[in-house]
Amino acid sequence: MIFLAYLCNIKLWGCDFESRSQYQNVDQAGHDLDPYSGYTENVMNKEALYGKTLDDLKEIASEMGLPGFTAKQIAEWLYKKDATSIDQMTNVSKKARSALIEKYEIGLVPHHSFQESVDGTKKYLFKVASGKYIESAYIPEKERATLCVSSQVGCKMDCAFCMTGKQGFQGQLTAGEILNQIRSLPEFKKLTNVVYMGMGEPLDNLDEVQKSLDILTSDWGYGWSPKRITVSTIGIIPALKLFIEHSKAHLAVSMHTPFDEERLELMPIQKTYPISDVIEVIREYDFGRQRRISFEYIMFKGLNDTKEHVKGITKLLNGLRCRINLIRFHPIPGFEHVSPSQKAMHWFRDELSSKGISTTIRQSRGEDIFAACGMLSTDKQNS
Ligand code: SF4
Repeated sequence: MIFLAYLCNIKLWGCDFESRSQYQNVDQAGHDLDPYSGYTENVMNKEALYGKTLDDLKEIASEMGLPGFTAKQIAEWLYKKDATSIDQMTNVSKKARSALIEKYEIGLVPHHSFQESVDGTKKYLFKVASGKYIESAYIPEKERATLCVSSQVGCKMDCAFCMTGKQGFQGQLTAGEILNQIRSLPEFKKLTNVVYMGMGEPLDNLDEVQKSLDILTSDWGYGWSPKRITVSTIGIIPALKLFIEHSKAHLAVSMHTPFDEERLELMPIQKTYPISDVIEVIREYDFGRQRRISFEYIMFKGLNDTKEHVKGITKLLNGLRCRINLIRFHPIPGFEHVSPSQKAMHWFRDELSSKGISTTIRQSRGEDIFAACGMLSTDKQNS
């Protein structure tokens, strides 16, 4: 959510909007990134196997009268052997494969196009089954490579500072569509981390997000450690509780100000689920030392960067083991605020750190291609 919105925000309206359409299919070195290479099946309105959990596959096997162990075999082909066609599933009987092909396809969808930032960040555009588009941001660093995935087309939450929010809600993604952003990424094998911070509020699509997390982290799936995954939320409390109980992935909560009235102006969700209640819920759980809780804090000059805010945050988080990520804001139309200076952000970080709150300033990436936090939007492609 925030992250892609952030990736997409800077100079959005200063740059001409044309750059949004400057997606390409070659990388900077001129290598062809043919989106359809490795995709051997036609999309024939068959149901996708990709994105099914082991339980889903067991149900399919049972409905088709296939032996129970077929489900595990299919899961292995999908998530461990990276099959691109049902025919490649050679340890599944020929008869079973033919029966599967009648009704199903793998269902991988290559990226439609991409843009590359001067800092190496890439923003990928994917088309989903509804015909709408979503964006994902690939952020390579020295020692890690992170993909920021979307969980919805647009978003219902209407945060005042976010381009995805301005797009409005245009649909939910399935687990397969969430995971396809990872699996169909040309840099898939290089990925070290995934953050659910792209378009949409992940906990507003909890079932499909949970399914995608199960597939990423289960032994029968990709077998990733949950420590490689962070799910970001603005704090929808009932879904938050279910998420904390079900998943071991890291949690990032969007705070942006410790004060109720101010937060309400920035984030309508504050009316239903105030940040103080969200933090009380988090306090009820034991996250152990392995699981990280962080708070995202987009900084707006003169609005949420004062000594009073340091005091407010310190009071709100009192004793909670967590960290704060400060994020520079990039102006968007219809929202008058600007980011504080780098110096002011350093001051804020140091003040919070001096109160014992681990605080970092998150580096801004992909600004020139609108891939920074708060900047993702496919409004143009979807209209
Ligand atoms: S509107 Fe709010 S919840 Fe939705 S993507 Fe933007 S920041 Fe995230």
